[in-house]
Amino acid sequence: KPQLANRVHTLTPSTTLAITAKAKDLKEQGIDVIGLGAGEPDYNTPQNILDAALKSMNEGKTKYTPAGGLPALKKAVIDKLQRDQELSYEPSEILVGIGAKHVLYTFFQVFLNELDEVIIPIPYWVSYPEQVKLAGGVPVYIEGTAKQQYKITAQQIKSAITDKTRAIILNSPSNPSGMIYSETELQEIALVCKEANIWIISDEIYEKLIYGDAQHVSIAQVSDDAKERTIIINGVSKSHSMTGWRIGYAAGNKQIIKAMTDLASHSTSNPATTSQYAAIEAYTGTQDAVEEMRAAFESRLEIIFPKVTAIPGFKVLKPQGAFYLLPDVSEAARMTGYVSVDAFVEAILTEANVAVIPGSGFGAPSTIRLSYATSLDLLEAAVARIDSFVRSKW
Ligand code: PLP
Repeated sequence: KPQLANRVHTLTPSTTLAITAKAKDLKEQGIDVIGLGAGEPDYNTPQNILDAALKSMNEGKTKYTPAGGLPALKKAVIDKLQRDQELSYEPSEILVGIGAKHVLYTFFQVFLNELDEVIIPIPYWVSYPEQVKLAGGVPVYIEGTAKQQYKITAQQIKSAITDKTRAIILNSPSNPSGMIYSETELQEIALVCKEANIWIISDEIYEKLIYGDAQHVSIAQVSDDAKERTIIINGVSKSHSMTGWRIGYAAGNKQIIKAMTDLASHSTSNPATTSQYAAIEAYTGTQDAVEEMRAAFESRLEIIFPKVTAIPGFKVLKPQGAFYLLPDVSEAARMTGYVSVDAFVEAILTEANVAVIPGSGFGAPSTIRLSYATSLDLLEAAVARIDSFVRSKW
């Protein structure tokens, strides 16, 4: 048995991946399983982006690039931030990395010292706590309850701040809740962060997936001070259906970006060159496909939301963005005889043949996450299966 580094002993493997693996096993046994676990759009990358990638390869642009990204891609990101958020950045304030996930990982590695605390709102994206811990930091959780629309308040942050607090993570629109912070809420949060002099990591990866009259505001937009203490994290994965290309970026303080770039120069060399050319086209080319995909997700949501609401024992808030529903199913699990939501999720998989993600992985163990990034036919069939499963056991 090999001896492993202490730092991996607290690492919890992604719950999302565990259920997906089990669903795959069942499928291989010939069972018709519908997966609602997906964390990615079900569309191919738009054609203009594929074409740009191919063109760059044919032109021989297949070598190393600067560690923090091609100058042309940094410029495309800067123009995007100016266009969409009216925020100005210099190239020295931008790092392009291997997906938002690895950009975040790099950030925590250069930012945290042992036992530094990072405030993480519940429900959270699974990787935040693990990444903080891997950098020697301590996740401090505060809970955004369903009553608070799964959002945390400035007051809660204030109460959680200690002399070890270095930063807070915000994710709006949120994975898994789909909720969006309003400008007023962000102003209040920014003020608390200013008073305590802590940093803000703003994960805006679902920025383009917004429904109804909801609006995306970046916390960096609310004041000059907020901009200075915020590191924006974003990328092309969800907006342009480019999850496999692995391109994300960070925008913020020059010294932090320089440290991240230096670390990248020894850990990654650069994000894949072809992917960078694809991302340039994603940000500078037509945005028609972005809006088409958004509209498709919204129409699915409109159809599927009432059906999920009608499942006995499911309590669900209507999401404002992203592509997930987060019903509280504690009553459904109890009334159908399961000791926990995790056990209920397992039964939904093995008996109703629908794969959903248990909320325990997000710090919200009374919930499950259903992704609607799948075709309407499959979505309707999956919800009907869950509905009759619950009714048959009630
Ligand atoms: N942040 C959140 C909240 C996410 O849900 C995801 C993907 O699931 C990411 C970041 C990472 O995106 P990527 O690494 O593909 O850019």
